[in-house]
Order: sequence, then C-alpha cells, then structure tokens
Amino acid sequence: MSLFQLRRPLGGLIGLLLALSFTSHADAGRYLRACCRQQATLPAGQLVQARYTETVLELEHNAAPWQPTAYAGRGGLWWSAATFARADTLTADTRPRPYYSATQWTPTALLYRDYGDQDLLPLAPGRQQDELFRAARYAPGPLLAWFGQHRVAPLPDTSAGLARFRATLHQTVVTLSIRRADARLVRMALLAPDELRGDVTTTYDYADYATLGHLAYPTRIEVRKYDGRLREEVRVREARLVAAAPVLLAAPAGGPPRPAAEVLPTVQVQVLAPQLHLLALPHTNDQVLVAEFATFLVVAEAPLNSANGELIIREAQRLAPGKPIRYFVFGHHHPHYAGGLRAFVRLGATILHGPGDAGYVRDLATAPHTLQPDSLQRHPTPLHAEEITDRKTIADGTLEMTIYCIGKQSEHTNDYLIYYFPQHKLLFEDDLAGVPSQGPARKASARQRGLYQAITERGLAVDTVVQSWPVRGGIKTIIPFRELTEAMSVGP
Ligand SMILES: [Zn+2]
Repeated sequence: MSLFQLRRPLGGLIGLLLALSFTSHADAGRYLRACCRQQATLPAGQLVQARYTETVLELEHNAAPWQPTAYAGRGGLWWSAATFARADTLTADTRPRPYYSATQWTPTALLYRDYGDQDLLPLAPGRQQDELFRAARYAPGPLLAWFGQHRVAPLPDTSAGLARFRATLHQTVVTLSIRRADARLVRMALLAPDELRGDVTTTYDYADYATLGHLAYPTRIEVRKYDGRLREEVRVREARLVAAAPVLLAAPAGGPPRPAAEVLPTVQVQVLAPQLHLLALPHTNDQVLVAEFATFLVVAEAPLNSANGELIIREAQRLAPGKPIRYFVFGHHHPHYAGGLRAFVRLGATILHGPGDAGYVRDLATAPHTLQPDSLQRHPTPLHAEEITDRKTIADGTLEMTIYCIGKQSEHTNDYLIYYFPQHKLLFEDDLAGVPSQGPARKASARQRGLYQAITERGLAVDTVVQSWPVRGGIKTIIPFRELTEAMSVGP
C-alpha cells in the first residue's frame, strides 16, 4: 500500500468527521428556532397573562454573613415576544407592611417603580437590556425571542443532550440550555460582575411545562443565587391568552426619568486627634479611620468595593509615606465597612474581624473577579486574617488602640467590633450611635442602648464617639458621649 493510498481513506474519514461535527454544530441552531416556535411565538395580537408566587431571599443588613431576609412574592404577569409587564407584592415576617413594585417593558422603553416608591425609578443605561433576563425569572419568552432574532450561534460543546447558546447582554453573560429531546429551555445561567462578591453565577432551572394552545411555558422555576448559596422558587399559574395588558405605568411627558450624575470618588481628610486621621468619602456617605502608629498604620473600614479600598490606601500612604498598613479592621460584615477588604489583602495587611466571619472573609478574598478585575485579581496574594472574640490591643508607646468585640450587644450584628483610644477618650464605631444633629435628645434606640451598655460595662472612659456611616442624613458623626447618656434617660 502506498502512502498516497493510506492517506486517502484517512483523509476521507477526517473530512467526514469534520463535516459531521460541523453539521451537528450548525444544526444545533435549529433547537433554538424550535424552542422559539414553542415558547416565544404567540397568536397575532395576543399576550400571555398569568399569576405567580415566589420566594425571594435578599442579602440585607442582617446579623450574620450570607443570612438572607426571606420574602414571599405574588403578582401578575403579562408578556409577548417583545413586551413584559409585572405587578408585584412582597411581604416578609420581619416587615410591618407589604411592598409593591411595577415593571413595564417594551423594546423602546423600560418603566419601573421600585418597592416603597411613588415615582418611577431613574434607570441607568443598560438596565433596559437587563430586563430581558430579569423577566426570564418568570417568563423566558421575550429573552428566547431576542436570542432567536439575533441568531445567537450555538456553543461548540454539547453536553447531556443539550444545545447551548450564549450572548452578553450589557454586563451579563447569559447562557441558555435547550434540551434536544423536546427543544424546551431547561436552564438559564447568568454570569455577572458583583463589586463585592466578584464573578457571580445565578441559575434558573425551568420545569413542569404546561401548554396554552401551541405555546409551552414553565410553571416552576428554581433559582440558585450567589453560586448556589441561596435558593428561591417561582410558580406560574392561571396562564391564559388575552388581547391587551393593563397600563401599569405611564411615562411622563419628558420621557422616563434619568439617573443623577454619579458623585466622583474623592477623599477629604480631617485630623480627629493626634495620630488619628478621619477620611470622609462623600461618594459613599462614609468616613473611615487611619490610626498612625510610629512605624505602621491601622485602617478601619473600607466601603463597598475594592476601588474604595485602593483609594483609602493611596490616601493613607500620602498621609504617612513609608509606613505600611499592618492591619485592616472592619467593625461588622456589612458592605459599607468590609466591602473594600480585598485591596488590603493585596497589600499583605492582616484582616481583623469579629467572630463568625472567617469563612466570609475567605469567600470575599478568594472570589474570582475576572469580569471586572481589581488589584487582588491582578496580583493574587495570600490572605492573613485574625478573629477577635473578646479584645485586642495594638500599642507601641505612641498610640494605643483596643478593639472590643461587643457582638450581639450591638443589637445589630453578631460580629460587632468597636475601637477605643484611651489617650484621647475616643471611641470609633460603625452605625450604632446615630444622634440627630438638631433638636432635643430623643429616646435611645436599641442600638444606642447596646453601645452605651457596651461602653459602660467595660468601664471605658469615653468623651467622644465617632461614627463611620452615614455622613449625610441629619445625624451627628462626631458625638459627645454625654448626648448618648442623655438619650438613655429620655422617657418613652
Ligand atoms: Zn450595619
């Protein structure tokens, strides 16, 4: 057999395999077309109207990291291939009253009234496109129609009888998985940047399909948020075809409201006491503390994201050139205090935290940030962290700082830390004191009582309490301790 003869059948076989794989790859596009026919094609002039119930888990300002507030949602939906409207009611055991929202979306305009608001919410550019996958939590028809109209190509890999299609909408990578056996959508996966938690995946599994004439729609949607940490469920029922949707929201004459211009990140420095620098960040409504020891610095609090952490580091290095930041401490796990910690991990600072936060600190420090890289993503650095369950004193003969864990006594979170500077009779804390800037003393809140008791039980001589958040909003951020004492004696 000559080489030529050997090559021919082999070449033919390779050509056939290539052709087959090409055919099968290109052919996968028909699953999207078939899925759109089944799930996004309505009789002319008709819409789907349905009711839904859902569980909603939100990460709010709760006592422990990853502890959600549980809401029950219910409402009405109206959708076609190019429109979506929703009227929603949310209730929670922990909330005294229900909250309402409304959404009205067409390809040219998105109107949204948020929970608890009277007016339309100004929406940032890009939010219009986001509504396609947001609506798909309840009804994937409009999103499928968009994928079909844009002839989104199938992904070359195939898995477990699925054809998969991927497109980027605004900042979110949307992957749809369509089951080849019946051309139905079984999963939507969203990969989006979260400024605190990095690249976050949310999946929606579509199940229990029902039909309305030729239209197939899922009646149960299982949602896994934050890489599966939180699970929600949506149930759709009483679907029927109708001729028109109600007008839930009307655009004002001048068009939908536009968001205000963003406040640019800046830092304003104030000397609080010898060796204590107070850095105000007007764009986040916070102030943070830099304690300057003889040969190193301690930074307390960094709001919301790595960029703010990096901004604080630059300012601290300008204030005290050559002094390394040895410790970064956050008073509790909420984003206004811990949000910028990755910037300090990158520097090699030791992260000081309250009890129960070790896993959360590790989660934040190791979360991939590939979609919007920060300094730690670009320069991976090992985490050094230390838990404070009672107290820790940092002192060098020029300055003394004692970090106390007051935990649940804060009446706010389980991990609460406060910082005491005995030389200055000064105490720095995050969000407990909140004395109004004007008017007579008011009865102490639960948080104020907790703080007052934490200070007095530990026998701390305090003249001044300095608060981190908020800076605006009619409350004092530098509070004479006697005002807290007065609030304790105001009657009901
Ligand atoms: Zn808080």
